[in-house]
Amino acid sequence: MAVDSNLSSPLGPPACEKDAKALRFIEEMTRNADTVQENLLAEILARNANTEYLRRFNLGGATDRDTFKTKIPVITYEDLQPEIQRIADGDRSPILSSHPISEFLTSSGTSAGERKLMPTIKEELDRRQLLYSLLMPVMNLYVPGLDKGKGMYFLFVKSETKTPGGLPARPVLTSYYKSEHFRSRPYDPYNVYTSPNEAILCPDSFQSMYTQMLCGLLDRLSVLRVGAVFASGLLRAIRFLQLHWSRFAHDIELGCLDSEITDPSIRQCMSGILKPDPVLAEFIRRECKSDNWERIITRIWPNTKYLDVIVTGAMAQYIPTLEYYSGGLPMACTMYASSECYFGLNLNPMSKPSEVSYTIMPNMAYFEFIPLGGTKAVELVDVKIGKEYELVVTTYAGLCRYRVGDILRVTGFHNSAPQFHFVRRKNVLLSIDSDKTDESELQKAVENASKILHEECGSRVAEYTSYADTSTIPGHYVLYWELLVRDEARQPSHETVTRCCLEMEESLNSVYRQNRVADNSVGPLEIRVVRNGTFEELMDYAISRGASINQYKVPRCVNFTPIVELLDSRVVSAHFSPSLPHWTPERRRR
Ligand code: AMP
Repeated sequence: MAVDSNLSSPLGPPACEKDAKALRFIEEMTRNADTVQENLLAEILARNANTEYLRRFNLGGATDRDTFKTKIPVITYEDLQPEIQRIADGDRSPILSSHPISEFLTSSGTSAGERKLMPTIKEELDRRQLLYSLLMPVMNLYVPGLDKGKGMYFLFVKSETKTPGGLPARPVLTSYYKSEHFRSRPYDPYNVYTSPNEAILCPDSFQSMYTQMLCGLLDRLSVLRVGAVFASGLLRAIRFLQLHWSRFAHDIELGCLDSEITDPSIRQCMSGILKPDPVLAEFIRRECKSDNWERIITRIWPNTKYLDVIVTGAMAQYIPTLEYYSGGLPMACTMYASSECYFGLNLNPMSKPSEVSYTIMPNMAYFEFIPLGGTKAVELVDVKIGKEYELVVTTYAGLCRYRVGDILRVTGFHNSAPQFHFVRRKNVLLSIDSDKTDESELQKAVENASKILHEECGSRVAEYTSYADTSTIPGHYVLYWELLVRDEARQPSHETVTRCCLEMEESLNSVYRQNRVADNSVGPLEIRVVRNGTFEELMDYAISRGASINQYKVPRCVNFTPIVELLDSRVVSAHFSPSLPHWTPERRRR
């Protein structure tokens, strides 16, 4: 469509009038970032003035930033736990928000081993939707013709529970996909998916994935972009194809759906889509049967222009594998969001993963930034290029000065809105998919497993470190253990160490166990026993590279290749968890 020249945007010429409006909105928000933030905070404070939480701090009706910052403390999830528990138990009084809490979003961040529960209110869905609506207008500036085909996205809902008080507790994306906003979205030629809603909304992850992949194969020539939320999800889809291609080829050849797909709404929807196509079936067999899966994405979906997956933060470990499967297609990281709040988007989505910056949208929440090593939070517009900050949010749903736990570095500005490189999440040692394991969780798990070792053969774990092994799909945790064997006659048996693997998994948080059990996105934990003296060699190596002897601490996670190679060369035996740890959707009560 030709677009009126006066619709043009500083970001570039919009693809259509709807895009022009979205780009104008971005311009308006980022030009007036400070005023937008000031007004937004005043609106939140006025609206929530009578909540129990704000009344506690005697704001006296003030809605200005100075009073807010002087009187309200910066907090973490643990500080809010009593209030959250009361809401979860059914207290409907205005504790955090004057608007009723409509549900809890279960974060992949955990507290005491369970997912954090983030309160949300109905209207937050509109805010999330608004951010989503800005993504394609920006993408269309860089990749033309995306209205001429479809996106093959692997999107899933996860299991949900109800809190004792009856509020749903589920991941933010599950909430979004199940909402009317998503299910009844109006037709948009720039946002057509190969996956039918019936497949996305199917709670059985196998049937959902099977159907989504089948639809992607049937429509392979229409596919212009391929994606999942995170890189790990897209790799899981490729692995799924590797395992099941002959079943897909069979279904396509005969035009009938695999009998393991029993969901009635999927069966009904697929009956209108699946027709016998022996030529396509033969093509799939030819491409998939070889051991060489290099460029498989562009071989099967030759019109793919880019991958739409987050490969920043912990997901950066998957970049080389995705490059291999896609033949180096660009990877677009489009947005930065969380259960607490959606933050912003990437205004230059075709940039290299290492150079991705997200522009925080000042209309989403009130944002503050604590300089790393400092204490005084600064405003969105006052952050300094090159400096690192911890993100703090105040949301419409009632989180006040809440530390998200993300560390961001300022890379530049779009108008007056800063752009941030995602540096890392605080305290995360190991991560494969959405699991995040911190040092104390790992320590506790090693201690628990070490007890088994001690009881069964009197040995102990003398030293340990860990590594997220993503060379296979799904990736898995590797623990390197150096043992203190007190009685040479009672060497730990293979069975004992495999039991230790399972005990460690049982001790890890519920997101890890869900990924293992329900999502199959993390493989069995492995313990590699290394020979005595290995950790001393590790220290020698660190010291040879400049570490101080006095201050040397064993790293509890390693990813530097020479160190991993050194450890691997000293392995005397390797053991995997023999079965799945325990996991149910229900939360343990604190
Ligand atoms: P959750 O609360 O489970 O939705 O997880 C949100 C967290 O995921 C954020 O606080 C970040 O640590 C991480 N995250 C979300 N989006 C991105 C992104 N684009 N790049 C890197 N990390 C991200």
